[in-house]
Amino acid sequence: MTTTPKRDAAADLARRFADYVPSLEGRDIVAIRPSYGLMIDGEERAAEGGATFPTIEPASGAHLADVAEASPADVDAAVAAARRAYETTWRDMPGRRRAKLIFRLARLLQDRAREFAVLESIDGGKPIRESRDIDVPLSAAHLFYHAGWADKVEYAVPGMAARPLGVVGQIIPWNFPLLMAAWKIAPALACGNTVVLKPAETTPLTALLLAELIDEAGFPPGVVNVVTGAGATGAALAGHAGIDKVAFTGSTGVGRSIRRQLAGTGRRLTLELGGKGAHVVFDDAALDQAVEGIVDGIFFNQGHVCCAGSRLLAQEGIAGELLDRLRRRIELLRVGEPLDKNTDVGAINSAAQLERIRVFVDEAAADGCRIDHPSRPLPDRGFFFPPTIVSGLGGAERIAREEVFGPVLAVQTFRTEAEAVAKANATRYGLSAGVWTEKGSRILWMSQRLQAGVVWANTFNKFDPASPFGGVRESGHGREGGRQGLREYLDTTPVAA
Ligand code: NAP
Ligand code: MG
Repeated sequence: MTTTPKRDAAADLARRFADYVPSLEGRDIVAIRPSYGLMIDGEERAAEGGATFPTIEPASGAHLADVAEASPADVDAAVAAARRAYETTWRDMPGRRRAKLIFRLARLLQDRAREFAVLESIDGGKPIRESRDIDVPLSAAHLFYHAGWADKVEYAVPGMAARPLGVVGQIIPWNFPLLMAAWKIAPALACGNTVVLKPAETTPLTALLLAELIDEAGFPPGVVNVVTGAGATGAALAGHAGIDKVAFTGSTGVGRSIRRQLAGTGRRLTLELGGKGAHVVFDDAALDQAVEGIVDGIFFNQGHVCCAGSRLLAQEGIAGELLDRLRRRIELLRVGEPLDKNTDVGAINSAAQLERIRVFVDEAAADGCRIDHPSRPLPDRGFFFPPTIVSGLGGAERIAREEVFGPVLAVQTFRTEAEAVAKANATRYGLSAGVWTEKGSRILWMSQRLQAGVVWANTFNKFDPASPFGGVRESGHGREGGRQGLREYLDTTPVAA
C-alpha cells in the first residue's frame, strides 16, 4: 500500500510567501518641500534665528526636509496667537459653526487620505497598510466624532455648566503622529479651546500638512498653531505661563518632569504615558485567534504602541503549543519597505530607538532567555528590527518589566487565575491588558482585577473615538475619547438647582 507523503503546511506557506512580488504605493502623491516653517497665527514662518532640524526617512536613512526649530520666543508668539484667537473668535463662536469647521477638516482629511498615509509612512516608517487603514481613517473618525459634540458641549457633563479652558498646549510622540494630533486637537477645538501643538522631532510632517488643511478649511488664524522642535520646545510650551492646560502623550519620564513643572500652578494636565500591557491566555482560549491577537498586539506599528501587548502570560497547559504556533506565525511576517502593501512590520522610527531595542534584547539574551525571530534577512539599509519572541523569563529581567517600545514580546507562564492577575499587575504601568478565554465569567473576573485603563477580551488594539482611552498608575491620568475625554477640555461648575 502506498501512502501520500504528508504535506508540510509551514513549508508550503513559506514557499508561497517567498513568491510575493513587491507592491509599492506611489510616492508621487506627496510633495515634500526642502524646508518647513512653524505654523503660527495662520502663517508659516521661520524660527527665531533660523534654527532648523532635519527629519529623515527611517526606511532608508535619507534626509527628507529641514524643519524649523521653535525657540522659547517662538512658543511665546504661538501662545499669544492662540490667546488672541481664543478671545476674539473661537471662544464665542456658536458651537454649530465650530462643528462645521471641524466636519470640514475631517472631510478634507478623507479627501487627501492617500497623501497623508504615504507621508506618514515615509516620515515615520510605519507600513502603508496601517497608515492607510488605521491611522488616517481613525484620525478622521476622531474629528467627525468631536465635530458632532461641538454644538452639544453643554450636555457633555450632566448637571454641570461647561466652559472652555482657554489655550491648551499639546505635546505628542512619534508613534502615531497624525492620529495623536487628531486625538488632541479634535476635543480641544470642539470644546472651544485654542491650541499650540508640538509634534515629535522625528515625525513633524503630517502635523504640518494637517495645519495646512486647517487653514484651507477656514479656521480663524491662531486657533491651531504648530511649533516643531525637540524636547526643549516641548518644555518651553509645557512651562509657559500663558496656557491653561497641558495635554501630553509620551514617555513616563518626560510626563513626570512636566508634572513637576506644573505643580502648584493651577493649570490643568492630562498625561498619556507608557505601558507594559499583558495578554493573559487561558487554556480554554481559541489558540489560533489568540495568536493573531498577540501578533497584532505587539507587532502592529513595530511595537511602537503605548498600549502594546508586550507581555504574554500563557497558562502552563497550553504555553508550549501557543509558543510553537507563535514562532511559526512570525516566520511569515514580512519586514521591510513601509510603502510596500505586503509589508507587515515596517521600519523602526529612529536609530536611537533601534539601539534601545537592541540593548533590551541583548540584555535578555545575556540573562539566559531564549530569543526567537524569523530567519529571513532584514533590509540592508534603514532601521529595522525583526519581530522577536523572548521566552524563558523569570520575571525579574528588565525586558519583563520595562517598556521596550519595539517588536519584542516577553513570554511568561502561569497556573492559576490569581497568579495571572499578580503577574499581569507586576508592573508600574497600567494602560492595557488582554484576556483570552472562552469563559465569560472569567473575563469579567479578570477585568475587575487587572489594573489597566483598557482591558480587551478575545481581541486587542481596538479603538473607537466614542470610547475613553487612558491609563492608571505610571501610565498617566486623564482620558481621551468619549464623553470622558471632553471633560478634560472643560471647566465645569454645578448648575444651580
Ligand atoms: P517622549 O520622549 O516623552 O516624547 C514625547 C513628546 O514630548 C515629543 O514631542 C518630545 O519631543 C517631547 N519632549 C521631550 N522632552 C520633553 C520635555 N522635557 N518637556 C516637554 N516635552 C518634551 O516620548 P517618545 O519617545 O516620543 O514616545 C514614546 C512614549 O510615548 C512611549 O513611552 C509610549 O508609551 C508613549 N505613548 C503613550 C500613549 C498613550 O496614549 N498613553 C500613546 C502613544 C505613545 P522630541 O520628539 O523632540 O523628543
Ligand atoms: Mg522622520
